[in-house]
Amino acid sequence: MLEVTAFHTGYGGLDVIHGIDMSIGAGEIVALVGANGAGKSTLLKAISGLLPVHAGQIRFEGQPIDHLSPRARVLLGFAQVPEGRQVFGGLTVAENLRLGAYVHRRGMSEADIVGRIREVCERFPILLERLSEPVANLSGGQQQMLVIARGLMARPRLLMLDEPSLGLAPVLVTEIFRLIAGLRDRGLSIVLAEQNAKLSLAIADRAYVIEMGRVVLTGTGFELLGRTEVAERYLGVGKGVRVSNAPRHEQLVGRLKQIFASAGSE
Ligand code: ATP
Repeated sequence: MLEVTAFHTGYGGLDVIHGIDMSIGAGEIVALVGANGAGKSTLLKAISGLLPVHAGQIRFEGQPIDHLSPRARVLLGFAQVPEGRQVFGGLTVAENLRLGAYVHRRGMSEADIVGRIREVCERFPILLERLSEPVANLSGGQQQMLVIARGLMARPRLLMLDEPSLGLAPVLVTEIFRLIAGLRDRGLSIVLAEQNAKLSLAIADRAYVIEMGRVVLTGTGFELLGRTEVAERYLGVGKGVRVSNAPRHEQLVGRLKQIFASAGSE
């Protein structure tokens, strides 16, 4: 479905990813495993079109997509769930979910959007009970469910999840991984970038171990779980939760409120 070949990308003209080859098949979970700073998020951002291709190619169903904007890639069926539970704190649960279908809004009636919210929330019943509440009322685990649910609102074919277990209590981590495995079972292709190598390899069909922007090991999740070097370096690695930039967040919420107001009059 997706093929990344001899791929280089990074920031300000400098490479962070140095010639990665990877592929994701239909209905497959592919895990990206690596320490903090290895380049997992950078690779996901480049696949989403948020970072430029410095060299190499990305093909989706055989067609080069390097020239496509992030929006065009969303329309093709890509959805990225960013790291750090990036909910829009000044909005309700339902408003956050609506944002996930934003690029498709012209083709969707109000009834379609409400129907889509109900369909997505079948997997997240706790969200359905709290649709009209501000997201600030949700626990960390519920907020992570919300960002995944928001990613599903556009009915993606390729879902990219960046550190979905970050900062969650172990019982919720298991719940999130169970949900992710359930999404694959419905035919979705999933790329899972995680420092929690144990669980991500446990549910992954295949995985790539990334160090300093290069693939150093690849295999099935099961094979890599059994490799001593993976066990020594990656099983049990953790890190703290990042604090968001509050003023920038407030500006963004203000703009989103305006978007909702104008969408109602369109
Ligand atoms: P993490 O789990 O910490 O996000 P990661 O494997 O996803 O780790 P990246 O966030 O992709 O790693 O970072 C890879 C490298 O790119 C790091 O050296 C990081 O400092 C650098 N980097 C990340 N974001 C930027 C940015 N906006 N500008 C410049 N360099 C960046």
